[in-house]
Amino acid sequence: MNEKSLQIIVTGLIQGVGFRPFVYRIATRHKLTGWVLNTNENVKVQVTGDSENIQNFLVSLKKEAPAAAAIETISTTEMETTAIEGFNIRGSHNVSDEITEISPDIAVCNECLNDIDVPGNRLDYAFVNCTNCGPRFTIIQDLPYDRIKTTMKPFEMCPACRSEYETVTDRRFHAQPTACSICGPHYQLFVNNEIISKEIDFIIRHISQSIDSGRILLIKGLGGMHLACDAFNETAVNRLREIKNREGKPFAVMFRDLESVKRFAEVSLQEEQSLVSWRRPIVLLEKKLIDKEPILAESLNAGLNLLGVMLPYMPIHYQLFRQLTTDAIVLTSGNFSSEPILIDNVLSLKLFSHLVDSVVLHNRDIYNRTDDSVVRIIDKKERIFRRSRGFVPTPVRTTFNTEGILAFGAELTNCFCVGKGTKSFLSQHIGDLQGLETTLFYEKTIARFIQLFRVKPKLLAVDLHPNYISTKTGLNFKADLPVVHVQHHHAHIASCMTEHHLDEKVIGVALDGTGFGTDGNIWGGEFFICDLNDFTRITHFEYIPLPGGDLAAEEPWRMAVSYLYKVYGHSFLELELPLLKKIDPEKISLIIQMINKNINCPLSSGAGRLFDAVASLLDLVQFASFQAEGPMRLESLVKQNCVDSYPFNLGRTICFDATIRRIVDDVIKGIDGATIATKFHNTIISTIFETANTIRIKEGINKVVLSGGVFQNKYLLEGTSKILLQNNFEVYSHATVPTNDGGIALGQLAIASKRRELLCV
Ligand code: ZN
Ligand code: ZN
Ligand code: FE
Repeated sequence: MNEKSLQIIVTGLIQGVGFRPFVYRIATRHKLTGWVLNTNENVKVQVTGDSENIQNFLVSLKKEAPAAAAIETISTTEMETTAIEGFNIRGSHNVSDEITEISPDIAVCNECLNDIDVPGNRLDYAFVNCTNCGPRFTIIQDLPYDRIKTTMKPFEMCPACRSEYETVTDRRFHAQPTACSICGPHYQLFVNNEIISKEIDFIIRHISQSIDSGRILLIKGLGGMHLACDAFNETAVNRLREIKNREGKPFAVMFRDLESVKRFAEVSLQEEQSLVSWRRPIVLLEKKLIDKEPILAESLNAGLNLLGVMLPYMPIHYQLFRQLTTDAIVLTSGNFSSEPILIDNVLSLKLFSHLVDSVVLHNRDIYNRTDDSVVRIIDKKERIFRRSRGFVPTPVRTTFNTEGILAFGAELTNCFCVGKGTKSFLSQHIGDLQGLETTLFYEKTIARFIQLFRVKPKLLAVDLHPNYISTKTGLNFKADLPVVHVQHHHAHIASCMTEHHLDEKVIGVALDGTGFGTDGNIWGGEFFICDLNDFTRITHFEYIPLPGGDLAAEEPWRMAVSYLYKVYGHSFLELELPLLKKIDPEKISLIIQMINKNINCPLSSGAGRLFDAVASLLDLVQFASFQAEGPMRLESLVKQNCVDSYPFNLGRTICFDATIRRIVDDVIKGIDGATIATKFHNTIISTIFETANTIRIKEGINKVVLSGGVFQNKYLLEGTSKILLQNNFEVYSHATVPTNDGGIALGQLAIASKRRELLCV
């Protein structure tokens, strides 16, 4: 027998995912002695035994790791052979300011679901979890990940839980949030602000009966409160909208199981994988056209063909569906529109107990607020649109050093980003930095990330827009720190480059609604040649006045009038267009005066505004009730079997006058909206391809990077990628980082890092 000892250092996402018990299990299986230990920078293992067994152990370490673990590196050093009795799991060590990663929250596992059916302390216990599942990021206050540094601290383990926690062979060995009905958190039911019950059976029955009879409830979840009602009940869904301040945004729906999802939506293999993954995001699916009862409430998704769908992920979700008659419930964030999701019990009761029929809370505090994440499968790949529960705080790895850089992000759909070595920690979805509550959440979360990830800010990155709350927060952060100002669309492209480890000159195509340009105009249809340091604007969508500034984004008819006036002059008023019948002629003439006198008419090249104008011409929306409603309605109409497109002009800028003319002709001729919408999408795809091709011919660059919120459009991204690939371009688009403004902070961080490198050299 060839005995030896090996020290093994493992880095990556390995804390809070059942890694040490896993190491214990495979070490004993391979007849090795030694120990395993969590530090705040890695997991250390020492093994002694037969060298062949050690080799097999290393293979198991890589191959059999728990589902939520993500090993980054394994390094080994041979040691002097030391005799240790058995295999031990040692206590955590806080060795330095380095960190290991924090696990995102993990959906309840099947073994835990089985436990709630077994008589004993966990019968029907709604907070069951183990080393393989349960809350993580949402309850973590500091590292290393130990119970006393989580919101489970107040719950002293009962002898039975403690014994499992200390038994190395147990599935709950060192499961920090482990609990049972004797010692752990509990749900409480409130009606009219009065506590009615603490009995889980009663509460589950009450919730199920309430939902089935059309009532609305506020229920505390993993990362925040949810508002819930029956997804088939039109009246309830409408009332829910009223409660949320008439929010127009589509609501997410939780289905009983995969089978019931498939009755209402088309589900591809990749979509199914996302739905059932331990991250359990909301997956945007195409609704099935069905005429059989029951029919999902029409107002769920504002008449769009997309449906935000998720599967149960907390024990209580499964418990509810056992009692519910309905197969689908609306589960939308518990807040008023434009405010962050509520996490506080007292505040939730105060704000919602008089609005909803009952409030269901629990006494496990939520420390880090997270929303349900949103993904969409495009080109068979999962694309994250809202990065929060289940994904955060997994870092993005970079090929360069981002240590100490703090990037503040954009104004809407904000996420910020902190740099730690070659890891960039993109925050959870913060939201739109307009309301006071969201801004407070933003500031607090920045402070938490700095503390949690032990970052000492040395360099700040902000958007070029002087009036963004994020820019102002950055400039006020610390007076003596240097600040890098980053152009919005350069940040978009840099974000996508960073995701794909690109560090060279590329053709950048950034299409979105709005971003501050270096010429003071509003950009958003941009073609760059850029690297991570700088960019040159090669061409862009032609400027057009935005009558009323920000209002133009909320009222697409203003954009239609702006385009029509540009193309036809006053004579557009004689056209037989639906929008001209809908909008008060006086309002229209006011817009024309504003344009002529240049009153509150900033110039914009935003692609989103062109989509808005076309949506208005097709009379899909004149007054938007949620962000990007126009583009979403247009995409909703697209059909797959139409290859025609409209003309456009590539001059010094990209001019859509001819496109608008032909769309107007088609509308007047009575051509169906689906054909027009598809031809319009095809036009944009051609524009991107032809422009990229012109740039390639001139500059010899073959890599095209696509970013910006417009690329959330499946038809557009798939079509653009396809034609570029067919013409031998190398194409890069976002997957793990949002293509919308939620990804901006990563780009800011990358650009700041590159500029710092250049300054130091
Ligand atoms: Zn479990
Ligand atoms: Zn217990
Ligand atoms: Fe943007």
